[in-house]
Amino acid sequence: MVEIKSPEQIAKMRAAGLVVAEIHRRCAEAAVPGASTKDLDDVAATVLAERDAKPNFLGYGGFPATICTSVNDVVVHGIPGRETVLKAGDLISIDAGAIVDGWHADAALTVFVGDGHPEQLHELSRVTEESLWAGIAAMRKGNRLVDISKAIEGYIRRQPLPASGKYGIIESYGGHGIGTEMHMDPHLLNYVDRRRGRGPRLIPGFCLAIEPMVSLGTAKTHVLADEWTVKTNDGTWASHWEHSVALTEEGPLVLTAQDGGRAKLAELGVTAAPDPLA
Ligand code: MG
Repeated sequence: MVEIKSPEQIAKMRAAGLVVAEIHRRCAEAAVPGASTKDLDDVAATVLAERDAKPNFLGYGGFPATICTSVNDVVVHGIPGRETVLKAGDLISIDAGAIVDGWHADAALTVFVGDGHPEQLHELSRVTEESLWAGIAAMRKGNRLVDISKAIEGYIRRQPLPASGKYGIIESYGGHGIGTEMHMDPHLLNYVDRRRGRGPRLIPGFCLAIEPMVSLGTAKTHVLADEWTVKTNDGTWASHWEHSVALTEEGPLVLTAQDGGRAKLAELGVTAAPDPLA
């Protein structure tokens, strides 16, 4: 069963989404050479406290931190720690969430630490982020869930290949429904699997966290002995971008983007729904 939200409930999720947007902004600023990933976790905890919001990652299935910090060949679910010190040339994906009045938001971005990254890493992050927006643009009334998967995969497959020779669309993780819990039905693949059918029809009130994860090599991953950290099997680096999105009568509202997704969606010819909190 998919939880369908009222406009009032979407407004509450927007409040949570704006907290996540602020966590992203401040963690991205703090992701400089010499900072530890625990420093970034502290920034996120501070923002949550300032905004009177609750963490949804901390304690989730026993997860020990406020955010996930995934460096280089870590795809997702990296655990922040004082021993993980960022250096110029690193690539870090920061995944953060917030709960406001019982409503969840969840989003991730990829940040370049310092300078000196090879061009293919810039391309990797750009392709991953743009595939997210292609997926968001497919979140329209009348479409099916699979149309979002198709838009994400199609965007990635249309891009020129990186120097590594391929992009791997991570298979074992994907997007999800979100609302009164962080992870809800339905699961959203970042590629089309014909065995799964087309999925539910998208109707106003449908809320999804859309989150492509792409590597410069394999689509396959493994989990480290800490039971959280997910790495690529071939050691290639990965990018992760995510937004929580609500489909409204007036189109998609990107809950975790500061502008509700207005600017990026306009580039794609889609009008974002008005911000209920503006
Ligand atoms: Mg998520």
